[in-house]
Amino acid sequence: MSERKRILVTNDDGIHSPGIQALADALEELGEVWIIAPDRERSAVSHSFTMNHPIRAHHLRERVYMIDGTPADCVMFGARGYLEHKPDFVVSGINRGPNLGIDTVYSGTVAAAHEGHLCGLPSAAFSLNLTKPGEVMHFADAARAAKAVVKMMMEKTTPAGTFLNVNIPNVPYEEMRGAVATRLGQRIYRDTIIRRVDPQGKEYFWIGGEAPTWVKAEGDDFHALEQNKISITPLGQDFTQHHAIPELDRWDLNLP
Ligand code: MN
Repeated sequence: MSERKRILVTNDDGIHSPGIQALADALEELGEVWIIAPDRERSAVSHSFTMNHPIRAHHLRERVYMIDGTPADCVMFGARGYLEHKPDFVVSGINRGPNLGIDTVYSGTVAAAHEGHLCGLPSAAFSLNLTKPGEVMHFADAARAAKAVVKMMMEKTTPAGTFLNVNIPNVPYEEMRGAVATRLGQRIYRDTIIRRVDPQGKEYFWIGGEAPTWVKAEGDDFHALEQNKISITPLGQDFTQHHAIPELDRWDLNLP
């Protein structure tokens, strides 16, 4: 019998979030789960890692660690020498809220999977499509779906040069209508700087605004969720827009 695969689980909502526990519980049936997660919510920290102060790590229980770092830090810990054995897979989530379109640039959940990919490991980020405050959160159902996707990653090979960004509809498992491969859609944010005054009369600010909307288009991640399908978008590390290289070449790029 082959050795159980080691699965590193992390997130950006923090170690106490229900999403990571549901995910870890579901994946335990597929392999040996190791959790290294941030000690508090680090949503929207993207791929930042800690370099200006030391990082403290706490061993909470068997195979569960909490660090005062970012999601990318957690994956570096797991894959670059904090654990005795390197993991075989990196799985991030389940995020409280979707990571669609341009969200992927800001997301700590997605960045953790990206870091796993940079460490040479098959990796995936999982997010639950919560859209309204106070809505029932189907984390256990989403974890069941995540387990099915990770099982596929184990049985097939994740396409070369990619990690997976998976968004799961927030419905009972029986209501999910399968999984589809998608591209990132176009999400539209209208965030502004919101000015407030504190009880001492000093100004403070929030960056925020109304809920984002999106451009409806078939084949993208939003469209899949609208149909209660699991959206699986293959992402890669190369941001290069190759089509623009000839155009840039035609600029006079020589210094005067
Ligand atoms: Mn988050």
